[in-house]
Amino acid sequence: MRVTSGADWRETIPFETPVNLAEYAPGEPARCFGCGTDSEPLPREELQAYKHRHPGNHDGYVRFYCAYHAPAAPAKPIEPAAAAPTSRKLKASSKRVPGAPRREETGPRPAFTPERARPVCPDCFMEIPPTGLCGNCGKTIALD
Ligand SMILES: [Zn+2]
Ligand SMILES: [Zn+2]
Repeated sequence: MRVTSGADWRETIPFETPVNLAEYAPGEPARCFGCGTDSEPLPREELQAYKHRHPGNHDGYVRFYCAYHAPAAPAKPIEPAAAAPTSRKLKASSKRVPGAPRREETGPRPAFTPERARPVCPDCFMEIPPTGLCGNCGKTIALD
């Protein structure tokens, strides 16, 4: 049994999930990628097939690992690097925002309106003239 027909089963296994190699591709003993090419081939029951994602090939690539070298947790290889460019774009777009608040700084006009505001009579809410005498009800308001 040769590995030449092994392309099919590699497509069936999920990405970044270790599977038992013997279950998907029983056959001759194979070598663990982590142990190296000089290591002794291991029975496939003791090997795990792990399909990595590849940036240039959506089919990814499969490697065999022994129990010691098998990747335990999924999702390390490429996804962080792929997510980085998007976050950079967000930062770049947010850097342009600080230019806008300067327009808001030129518009503190509401601060000038209190100078125009004059005392108001507490009873009839009429504006009190500089004399301090309400023109509506005649009440005297203490002005500063
Ligand atoms: Zn190994
Ligand atoms: Zn009044």
